Amino acid sequence: RLEIRNLVRRYDGQRVVDDVSLRVMPGQVTCLLGPSGCGKSTTLRMIAGVEMQDEGEIWVDGHLVCDTTFRIPPERRHIGLMFQDFALFPHLTVGANVSFGLSGDKAEMGRRVDELLQRVGLGDYGKKYPHELSGGEQQRVALARALAPRPSIMLMDEPFSGLDNRLRDGIRDETLDILREQDTAVLLVTHEPEEAMRMADEIALMRAGRIVQQGAPYNIYNAPVDRDAVAFFSDIN
Ligand code: ATP
Ligand code: MG
Repeated sequence: RLEIRNLVRRYDGQRVVDDVSLRVMPGQVTCLLGPSGCGKSTTLRMIAGVEMQDEGEIWVDGHLVCDTTFRIPPERRHIGLMFQDFALFPHLTVGANVSFGLSGDKAEMGRRVDELLQRVGLGDYGKKYPHELSGGEQQRVALARALAPRPSIMLMDEPFSGLDNRLRDGIRDETLDILREQDTAVLLVTHEPEEAMRMADEIALMRAGRIVQQGAPYNIYNAPVDRDAVAFFSDIN
């Protein structure tokens, strides 16, 4: 379970994230939607711990991981990341990339890696190196790598944006199934209205650093708070 309380981030005196509070329950997906520059990625970076908030608190599974005086480092937060720049380790095989965050029984790790590579459609790719893969294939390896440790929270910043349409729907649904199976709480940033409607249990609309509307997808679809929201959802056919 992810909880953020009254998060604030300032750049040059501007509050680019301005008193944002959110809660995501295990096995649920919250989509963060909003125009370019409204503070979505900054919010995710603070939760991930790669950027420090100026005010507010972040809680994971009932534990405080960060406030203004106290900070658990990113690698100890049980948070998985799927960001736009999904750099793989170039000197490691695909299989070794996927198992990178795992520890414990070797055979079990191997099974987990095989299962995830199968599910992203790359069953035979375990022994290849990243440079032998297309961009879309590398991105799917990065998805498998982020899923592998079964994080309690997953932060996704347009993780499917580089994939072609045909592939994207399948990978998106498969990723979502895996996340729900392992009871991960997901915070997903997307520019795609259909993606939001398809994946979200809850949608949060963000404008200029603030959350202006939050609720179930069809409630927001049926009663959008402003013209931007109307325009966003009118793209859905
Ligand atoms: P997009 O949809 O384009 O990815 P976003 O909602 O993710 O947009 P952010 O990347 O969170 O937006 O940026 C929010 C605001 O903060 C923007 O106005 C941006 O210019 C500003 N900003 C982001 N990072 C910095 C930084 N390191 N220094 C100064 N300003 C920054
Ligand atoms: Mg962004």
